Amino acid sequence: MKKLIPSLFALLLIASGAPAGEEHGHGKIIPGPKGGRIIEVEGGHAEFFVQPDRKVSVTFHGEDMKPAAPAGQTVTVIAEAPAGKAKLEFEKTVDAFVSKDVLPEGDGYRIVLQIRNTPDTKPQNFRIDYHAELCGGCNRPEYACTCDHGTGSHGGHAH
Ligand SMILES: [Zn+2]
Repeated sequence: MKKLIPSLFALLLIASGAPAGEEHGHGKIIPGPKGGRIIEVEGGHAEFFVQPDRKVSVTFHGEDMKPAAPAGQTVTVIAEAPAGKAKLEFEKTVDAFVSKDVLPEGDGYRIVLQIRNTPDTKPQNFRIDYHAELCGGCNRPEYACTCDHGTGSHGGHAH
């Protein structure tokens, strides 16, 4: 019994740390609270947002979109700008990861967002086509557009 309790505890920790299943409704676009693009990551969501100063901020949220304080994640952005590839390193702030440098000039290029949950896990890569112009439909930058560009019209998502 003495041995069982700690291992049970460890199991519980593992179970609660892991996202339960792949039950996300794919195709449903969640608008980012800051106005950025929501990406599904392991264990929840991340918001990719280009600030007015062209620095990139990445904010983590739980499965339920509740804000999650930055933890042991590592965030990197590779901007495949026409002028050449630029790699942005991030630093942790109170509520987000913010890039130390600004994005290369212009837009219309590919951005690869790399997130590692812990330093020794494999990075998750997300490709974002960075278009800064405002979408006429949702009034958000195109990279964070929430319009349903898919086929078929399914309205009203229940929460
Ligand atoms: Zn739109």
